[in-house]
Amino acid sequence: MYLQSQGKLNGSRDERDGGGELNTETSKRLFAEAQRCIPGGVNSPVRAMKGVGMPHPLFIARARGAHLWDADGNEFVDLVSSWGPMILGWGHPEVVGALHAQIDLGTSFGAPTALEVELAQRICEALPSVELVRMVNSGTEATMSALRVARGFTGRDKVVKFIGCYHGHADPFLAAAGSGVLTLALPDSPGVPRATTADTILVEYNDAAALGAVFAARGDEIACVIVEPVAGNMGVVPPQPGFLETARRLCTDSGALLIFDEVITGFRVAWGGAQERYGVVPDLTTLGKIIGGGLPVGAFGGRADVMETVAPLGSTYQAGTLSGNPLAMAAGIATLKVLAEVGVYEELEARAVQLCQGLVEAALSAGVPATLNRVGAMMTLFFCDGPVTDFADARRADTALYARYWRHMLEHGVYLAPSQFESAMVSLALTDADVAVATAAARSFFKGL
Ligand SMILES: *Cc1c(COP(=O)(O)O)cnc(C)c1O
Repeated sequence: MYLQSQGKLNGSRDERDGGGELNTETSKRLFAEAQRCIPGGVNSPVRAMKGVGMPHPLFIARARGAHLWDADGNEFVDLVSSWGPMILGWGHPEVVGALHAQIDLGTSFGAPTALEVELAQRICEALPSVELVRMVNSGTEATMSALRVARGFTGRDKVVKFIGCYHGHADPFLAAAGSGVLTLALPDSPGVPRATTADTILVEYNDAAALGAVFAARGDEIACVIVEPVAGNMGVVPPQPGFLETARRLCTDSGALLIFDEVITGFRVAWGGAQERYGVVPDLTTLGKIIGGGLPVGAFGGRADVMETVAPLGSTYQAGTLSGNPLAMAAGIATLKVLAEVGVYEELEARAVQLCQGLVEAALSAGVPATLNRVGAMMTLFFCDGPVTDFADARRADTALYARYWRHMLEHGVYLAPSQFESAMVSLALTDADVAVATAAARSFFKGL
């Protein structure tokens, strides 16, 4: 089998039923070593767990189904799913089998393969607005490429971005960019020239009137509006009725392009993403996370007349040595095949509802001000009164209380995102027993307040 049993585990959940201090000596030692060769000891800032006051991150050794084991052998029910990609859980036989088979055939050719055609076909089938799609290696590449294409196509420079939305770490988007930046309280990033964000116009999420005003003032300069159709990087914030529709209408009327950043929501909130769930059709869509099945992938696609401007058909340049990587394609195809089965999204949503009810009841029974936002299999429990409809609302959340909650959940065997401003990502591998563990852990936290 592909995952070795490690025998009796140090601090496995059964032994820690009552919770309590975790033994994390190995993680601590690894972090000390990591800091000597990696900036901050991590390859992506939120992993440092600073937002919840952990002195060091947990180093993960392995995972199976919806369970993670850290380097010290502690076992956790996982509600992060690698920030979204692991929607099937870990070790799914279809995905693992596809990867094993591909490894023997070759892992990178820098030339076209049948695999990338198949994944592109599946994406175009699931999202009818995507007529042509190009593979890249991350969500960041997808959004920065989509922006370039939108600018090239329209001959305009300005991009409208919503406060608290995250579109990867490319320069033009690093203004009011949600969780990673927010958790570390970096207002803007050094190294981003003022000129680069000068063409980025910020609008409050869900504020259709403000968006209308921006278009009234300078609609003819706007290349595109980019939006997370369900915000996930300030915690989950669903679009208010009419918000996405207004963005669609304003873009159409002014000749700007509407970009849905579905890097999280694609294949998560519905088979056809948020555009299917809300019935609003973007011009361009960016994807990532799930479509790589746990390997590094991104994609951008949309209207044929727009995508035909991309090289080699058109003159808007975009390229990648490892783009369409065979291993990533194989994992993505296998993942989408499973997700295409009948009833999968109903099952996923049922799991998410079950978890959400458990957490909400736990919070309400203790009278703690809390608001749970959920769309499909993504959800955030905000520690503040509702409703939470934009970034300003999200910021009212009690992050100190969240940090205590996070720590308690961890000590009771539940691995949550180490930030209030992230989404829990429900996977199909989550069992009734896992939901029961999470609910019991939440209940004991709120009871103890
Ligand atoms: C994660 C994310 C990105 C960036 O993807 P990476 O693969 O981390 O570069 C872009 N947009 C959204 C909405 C995301 O959640």
